Amino acid sequence: MSEDCLFCKIIAGDIPSDKVYEDDHVIAFKDINPQAPVHTLVVPRLHISTVNDLEDENAALIGHMILAGKQIAADNDLAEPGYRLIMNCNEQGGQTVYHIHLHIMGGRQLRGLG
Ligand code: 5GP
Ligand code: ZN
Repeated sequence: MSEDCLFCKIIAGDIPSDKVYEDDHVIAFKDINPQAPVHTLVVPRLHISTVNDLEDENAALIGHMILAGKQIAADNDLAEPGYRLIMNCNEQGGQTVYHIHLHIMGGRQLRGLG
């Protein structure tokens, strides 16, 4: 738990969210400013600020986040049409919340990353 972290406050229940999944390691909730019909964030309960801060010991956690994303995509009927998983890192990567999270986006044709 990091004192002034938005996602730690959501995990603690101090800030409400539209939760779609949770287990011992991650929670997932709908993005407040969705960029696609389905736009959900998978967030580890452990506070890690950026992808740069990941260590080898976090490998299972990252795998778990992706598997949760796969399941959420399937639950939203996105498996066959397809979807996108994104993690942004630092300013030029477009990161705005400094607690790592995996974006799951789909439900429309997504354009290139340019
Ligand atoms: P980033 O830009 O760091 O990759 O992604 C942060 C995401 O968090 C953005 O897509 C933004 O819309 C979302 N977000 C920011 N504040 C809140 C909030 O209070 N609640 C929820 N559900 N999403 C948020
Ligand atoms: Zn945090």
